[in-house]
Amino acid sequence: MSDDAVARELAALRATVAQFALLCNNVPAAIAYYEREHNTCRYANRGYAEMFGQTEASIIGLSVAQVIGEEAAAWIRPQVDQVLRQRQGTRYERRLPDVSGTPRYLEVHLLPHMPNGDDEPVGAFVLISDITRHREAAIALRDSEERLAKFMHASAEGIVFHRGGFITDANPPLLALLGHTLPELLGRSTLEFVAPSQRGRVAEVMAAGDEISYDSAVLHRDGHELPVEFIVRTMQYQGERLRMTIVRDMRDRAEAQARIHHLAHHDALTGLPNRLAFDSRAQALLARAQAQGEGLALLFIDLDHFKRVNDSLGHPVGDMLLQTVAERIGATLRAQGRPGPPVGAAPARDADLVARFGGDEFVLLLAGDPAPAAVQAVAAKLLAAIGAPLQVEGVSISVTPSIGVALYPAHGDTPAALLKHADIAMYRAKLNGRAAWRFFEPAMAETAYAELAMESRLAQAVREGEFVLHFQPQQSLADGRLLGIEALVRWQHPELGLVPPDQFIPLAEARRLILPIGQWVLLEALRCAVRWHASGLARVPVAINLSTTQFHLPGFAETVERALHDTGASGSMLELELTERMLMEDVVGVRAALQRLKATGMEIAIDDFGTGYTSLALLKHLPVDRLKIDRSFITDLPGDASSAAIADAIIRLGQSLGLQVVAEGVETVAQREWAREHGCDAMQGFFGGEPMAQADFERWLALRDAS
Ligand code: C2E
Ligand code: MG
Ligand code: MG
Repeated sequence: MSDDAVARELAALRATVAQFALLCNNVPAAIAYYEREHNTCRYANRGYAEMFGQTEASIIGLSVAQVIGEEAAAWIRPQVDQVLRQRQGTRYERRLPDVSGTPRYLEVHLLPHMPNGDDEPVGAFVLISDITRHREAAIALRDSEERLAKFMHASAEGIVFHRGGFITDANPPLLALLGHTLPELLGRSTLEFVAPSQRGRVAEVMAAGDEISYDSAVLHRDGHELPVEFIVRTMQYQGERLRMTIVRDMRDRAEAQARIHHLAHHDALTGLPNRLAFDSRAQALLARAQAQGEGLALLFIDLDHFKRVNDSLGHPVGDMLLQTVAERIGATLRAQGRPGPPVGAAPARDADLVARFGGDEFVLLLAGDPAPAAVQAVAAKLLAAIGAPLQVEGVSISVTPSIGVALYPAHGDTPAALLKHADIAMYRAKLNGRAAWRFFEPAMAETAYAELAMESRLAQAVREGEFVLHFQPQQSLADGRLLGIEALVRWQHPELGLVPPDQFIPLAEARRLILPIGQWVLLEALRCAVRWHASGLARVPVAINLSTTQFHLPGFAETVERALHDTGASGSMLELELTERMLMEDVVGVRAALQRLKATGMEIAIDDFGTGYTSLALLKHLPVDRLKIDRSFITDLPGDASSAAIADAIIRLGQSLGLQVVAEGVETVAQREWAREHGCDAMQGFFGGEPMAQADFERWLALRDAS
């Protein structure tokens, strides 16, 4: 070969080597060649040399152990031996920190070098590719799978994975919620486990691929539905679109909501529906009655003087009383063979409706076309049942109801109209002395307006002091001596003239205007008494009538004491007339107040005696001086036997207790004689003298003295 040819061949070889070097240094792999005989490196590309902190030149001639370290060399030795022995390439992975210490994942290919065909290998090629990115991605995937699995199992909420609507995985809480095992779920359609009523919605959400949360219901294995919330997410997993649904058990929330609903619609104290619930149910009952051509009855119940129970015995006692009333209403309805109020949440279809409107107001709606007689029977039974005495802390209390009744369709065709009219009838019952029931009558609506007008007029009368006192004497039956004087109030109405107390006291009482009126009566009566005592015209006590509200007002005794002080009167100049009903409520408080007042020398009389139910025990217990036999028992004397029997019994009772007895409303000689003969002490009536205006009365007193 010529020098030229050699030079050309050399140049070509160099070019090939340069090409080879260019290629080797730019493939994304580290490449080296180790010679077998000396086990040293004969070639390394830049990537390989740098991987082990060498250069392409410095690495040449180094042993495997010198390049990769003793430990690594020992580790790969078996692989190398295998390659050489079996004359076959091999592949393995190694984790190796790079020069900065960050772990790298390497894929290593070892290839035997057999230049002469099947001969013994003379060396081995090493090809290393960096698969860190791959590995990390795979690790990340595995980690996230693990995390997901852990999360799925740690979650207290049900989780289900599904692909195209078919279940691929579910966690234990979901299995528990549905009552199925995992194998029973896998591969089945998610919709099978959704409540039938909800399937349409779920299918829609699935089809739209929405990522949303919504309320739904699932189907338990045993067929019952459970309220749940679905929280749906879509995720890519191994190139697939997976849906993950979190299934949140909403039974607790459903229960809480039911509770809140119950609270909003029921009175916490009695558990009865409240006004809100009443309105909607009454509407429904009314619509039903209308459709079937049936009647309804609405009863408006208001407790008489309930406020006083609260004020004097405290709210816990008041609450207990209201609960008792609620129970008694229910029991009464059931005893009358009516469906009664619903016990628990769901009302029977045609059950009566019982609601508490707050305070001491209860409303009943009697369903099922009740005949008026049946409504009357219910009202009468309610009256008796609610008013029955109740033992509270050793004290017997009794609160009567006043009941107003309005009928559908006669008295209104909306719940509002029926309520209004029943309320008016109830108010009527109260004006008529309470503890009564009344049916609504159209005329009542007119008087209600009249009363409203009267009410505002009465308030003005209080402001402008349009009241006067008339006085009626009480005389001894034994000798005609003046024993006492009763002060009776009248309203000097500018247009109507003198209005008797019966016509405005009940209204004043209902609207609490009685307090300023009563206070004025007290002061005015005392001023007169002081004057008459001073002038010597009359040295007897002046009696005033008390209203229930006035008497039971906290601090009543103090008010009277202050009035004595302000007018300069002494206690013995005043007598208080109470009714039996006043004594029966708050016995303890009444006794204390009376004892305190008695200590000032004041006298206490029980007015209209015989019309109430004062017990003997109570009478003995209270510091009372005098019983006034109600006029109704005197009017028919002496002819009427039963009046006579009652009047006689009262007189004996008074005598046995050492009390003075006064006959009220004595109009005739015969009546006076009867009273005197039967041991009555005093009389008051037209026969002895009608109630007189102050000036007339003073003249009467003067004339009497003169005679
Ligand atoms: P009362 O306390 O029983 O008063 C007696 C009533 O009987 C008085 O009616 C009186 O005029 C009437 N009367 C007296 N003798 C006879 C008689 O022989 N025959 C007849 N037919 N009637 C007789 P009046 O003045 O209309 O008072 C009615 C009621 O009004 C009183 O009944 C009393 O409960 C109440 N009242 C009167 N003044 C006041 C007051 O200042 N405050 C309060 N809260 N109530 C009062
Ligand atoms: Mg009186
Ligand atoms: Mg009387």
